Amino acid sequence: MSKTESMENIDNNLSSVYDSWDREHLWHPYTSISNPLPTYKVVSAEGVRLRLADGRELIDGMSSWWCVIHGYNNPALNEAAKRQIDSMSHVMFGGLTHDPAIRLGKMLLEMAPPTMDCIFYADSGSVAIEVAMKMAIQASIGRTGNRDKTNFVTIRSGYHGDTWNAMSVCDPVTGMHGLFGSALPVRYFVPQPASRFDGEWNPEDIVPLEEVLLEHHDDIAAMILEPIVQGAGGMWFYHPEYLRQARALCDRYGVLLIFDEIATGFWRTGRKMAWEHAGVEPDIMAVGKGLTGGYMTMAAVMASRRVAEEVSACEAGCMMHGPTFMANPLACAVAIASLSLLADESAVSARMAHLEHMMREGLSGLAPLEGVRDVRVLGGIGVVEMERPVDVGAFQRRCVDKGVWIRPFDTRIYIMPPYVISDTDLTHLLGAMRELVTEECEGSLPHA
Ligand code: PLP
Repeated sequence: MSKTESMENIDNNLSSVYDSWDREHLWHPYTSISNPLPTYKVVSAEGVRLRLADGRELIDGMSSWWCVIHGYNNPALNEAAKRQIDSMSHVMFGGLTHDPAIRLGKMLLEMAPPTMDCIFYADSGSVAIEVAMKMAIQASIGRTGNRDKTNFVTIRSGYHGDTWNAMSVCDPVTGMHGLFGSALPVRYFVPQPASRFDGEWNPEDIVPLEEVLLEHHDDIAAMILEPIVQGAGGMWFYHPEYLRQARALCDRYGVLLIFDEIATGFWRTGRKMAWEHAGVEPDIMAVGKGLTGGYMTMAAVMASRRVAEEVSACEAGCMMHGPTFMANPLACAVAIASLSLLADESAVSARMAHLEHMMREGLSGLAPLEGVRDVRVLGGIGVVEMERPVDVGAFQRRCVDKGVWIRPFDTRIYIMPPYVISDTDLTHLLGAMRELVTEECEGSLPHA
């Protein structure tokens, strides 16, 4: 069949042809084209429900990789997009500006740590990390004149995206270091903080960072980490004291501190931003995902005035980055609507506390099961860590049969539902998760 013929078939017979064409021609994330995992065709989405081509509906436990915080087909976000598209969908940001960028900037600085003062709009989370890392290098050279102060230190089990520099600071074992080998810049890694978010602080946790900074601070521009919650690298919640001590060490050794709040920002951890759990501010901070409520790709990198001026002091005299779609007005307009829905802070805080309470109640009973290593809940995140890796394809087939959408990775089965999920839907989602985990335990246990 020619490509044109197959496209016609797609139009004529969407539900039956598209899946096989998709299977043959479209790469999905981290999926083989020769032996792909099953993919399910979604024809529409509303609130927390994904409607499949065969009419089945799934309650979404993933918020589409954590970004659809206000639910699908949200009337306020739809309206913002429609209004903006009729006036100006895009205009270059070089030499031009517009109200959506300015209004969004003001809202972002209101939500950000008080010292954040300047904003760089980026196209995605990974690109925001590239920008944050370039910013840190330029600022360090601008401040010290030391052109070797260009490396980074980070904690193991982190995840910061899939572009080149972002990959270099992802966990060296579960990330892609083995695959890309010497093509990736070599970074300094310290162990993941072992002290749990809700446990005792162990002062030993900070010792490796102190040792690395003592020995190598002259060639380290910045430390980069995900504050409080390490997401795709392991769904681990660590103690806020780590951030306080890391801040003090970075100050002592003249190293900048970058917080990657791409997954944790906009209330996912129960606070507006995760830095608030520790009360320490970064020098540079990246946000993304929930920024546009999951409508389109956009991220932002914020910096203190001091860092921004140091960037200008380096020989280039400016921030050396400038994407085509920077500050896309359509994305800015939707982001303004998304942040407006979070404006009533006490209401959002109460909502997240309610979700946390329900998830705690719904999942804690799984902890004693043989086959479950740990259960943890924080804000809008509920995690069950298994003893053994989960077969994603088989697991998702069982999810779809139960009318829910959950995508585990490695040993982690987790949910991060849209904030608007009703109690009835969350109860259903948690019930399905309990069944799935129990089945997983039964399946993974050795037969008597
Ligand atoms: N940083 C963190 C903490 C993330 O969780 C992610 C994505 O999951 C990224 C960066 C990369 O964002 P994107 O997928 O938008 O490039």
